Amino acid sequence: MKKQIADLGFEVLITAQQIEERVKTIGAQISEDFKDTVPVLVGVLNGSFLFIADLIKQVSIPCEINFTKLASYYGGTTSTLKIREDIDLTVDIKGRDVLIIEDIVDTGNTAHYLIEKLNLREPASLKLCSLLLKPAALQKKIDELKYVGFEIENEFVVGYGLDYKEMGRNLSDIYKKVG
Ligand code: 5GP
Ligand code: MG
Ligand code: MG
Repeated sequence: MKKQIADLGFEVLITAQQIEERVKTIGAQISEDFKDTVPVLVGVLNGSFLFIADLIKQVSIPCEINFTKLASYYGGTTSTLKIREDIDLTVDIKGRDVLIIEDIVDTGNTAHYLIEKLNLREPASLKLCSLLLKPAALQKKIDELKYVGFEIENEFVVGYGLDYKEMGRNLSDIYKKVG
């Protein structure tokens, strides 16, 4: 079914049920991989807020949650290298096992920037979990990317936290742009 968001048309790409199943699997993997430690999950706002909320409920080991806010898209559908830092972590990650939770890795520039920044704080380990990955758009190799929900084509998506012009974050399914 076609959905209009602001001035663009979208259609469903990944259903809420598919997301739910995948989030359960990733949560179980994280619980197993970090069972000998208490990881700090770092949510990257705004786009990952629904993913984090659902994922953390599937993590069955003790963990902490903290947030950072970065903006790398300014309302359009093409990537820009500009990254604005809005909110920093409020936890000291030195010596901690850190898992960054992202909505989407597109060019990889935002993830690369954040990984470099957090590595300066000397965490014991640093890994990345992203709900979505656009392999064809990736400009940087990201060795830290250990968990990926879905690999998608190089197309613009909204829903489940992701926005188009700040709209569509509330949708339960993920939609791709049509036309
Ligand atoms: P990157 O730095 O990897 O190019 O892009 C990272 C950020 O760009 C994401 O966290 C997200 O905010 C935004 N972004 C990239 N691709 C998409 C997309 O298809 N849809 C939406 N809504 N945002 C995207
Ligand atoms: Mg993001
Ligand atoms: Mg955005």
